[in-house]
Amino acid sequence: MHACLPLLQPSDFPAIARATLETVQVNLGYRCNQSCLHCHVNAGPQRKEAMDRQTVEAVLDFLRRSQASALDLTGGAPEMNPHFRYLVETARGMGVKVIDRCNLTILEEPGYEDLADFLAAQRVEVVASLPCYLEENVDRQRGGGVFGSSRRALRKLNGLGYGMEGSELILNLVYNPQGPSLPPPQAELEADYRRELWTRHGIVFNRLFALANMPIQRFGSTLVSQGGFHPYLAKLRAAHRVENLAQVMCRSLVSVDWQGRVYDCDFNQMLGLPLGRRDTPPAIGNLDPDTLDHAPIATAGHCYGCTAGSGSSCGGALADSPLAQTGGQP
Ligand code: SF4
Ligand code: SF4
Repeated sequence: MHACLPLLQPSDFPAIARATLETVQVNLGYRCNQSCLHCHVNAGPQRKEAMDRQTVEAVLDFLRRSQASALDLTGGAPEMNPHFRYLVETARGMGVKVIDRCNLTILEEPGYEDLADFLAAQRVEVVASLPCYLEENVDRQRGGGVFGSSRRALRKLNGLGYGMEGSELILNLVYNPQGPSLPPPQAELEADYRRELWTRHGIVFNRLFALANMPIQRFGSTLVSQGGFHPYLAKLRAAHRVENLAQVMCRSLVSVDWQGRVYDCDFNQMLGLPLGRRDTPPAIGNLDPDTLDHAPIATAGHCYGCTAGSGSSCGGALADSPLAQTGGQP
């Protein structure tokens, strides 16, 4: 696989600094029941990396020591980590909001039949990837049969109350383009998804997040092989909007890898760019949350993927956020 970081540095991306920490995003490991082309963590069924219990305890301890109000769980398929349910139950017991970045198909895997019930019982917010409402497009990007499995999983979640009007069980969907192009406007796409998923499949959801593909890891390497890396980077840079800088997710989030090392965001974690431009990433167990306030953020060329067009974050387009509607002032 081609290394992308050398192609992303040096960069003229503007200097940015942290605001208030709200979310601790934790990558529980790289094992996944799928193996998608665009996956920026190169997850797959053969990967063995998984956060151990000691590191899970360090994450919980950091949550107790910090003011963070949300725990955002990613992978791989985070649910495949053996400590997933312990972490969720303990965090919920502390009053922390828990978000599960779920690929949907995991809900149908043997051994995970009761996972949807567990998520509902714990009031876990589900953020689910669904790159299109058309079966052929989803199966092309994520593998044959993925759409059918995702459809059944979404119906199961709806059946438990997820995404239903008046329910407190939140089901958000994530869209990313099929290739090196910017996502269309989020509000229009959300309206299309809402109409098509309801009329074709009787599925409802709360919000759609439209994210740009990051030119790193498997997707970045594929672009390099095809000669498309620099044109895509140039496209992201040309679409940079300064007002998105106030809301990029790294300002309010830290990202913890499966070994407990801390980064400014999930993308930096995958590139090996340590938190706050340090030489090495600090361990979550040693990190003083007070040192994060106003700390510098490590950036490189891929950061234009967060600020291009309507912007991208783990909470969707930045231009659609309440901050953007007030001119981007935090
Ligand atoms: S489902 Fe998600 S984590 Fe798993 S391979 Fe696909 S993109 Fe990666
Ligand atoms: S890639 Fe990471 S560090 Fe760069 S702007 Fe986006 S969230 Fe921030």
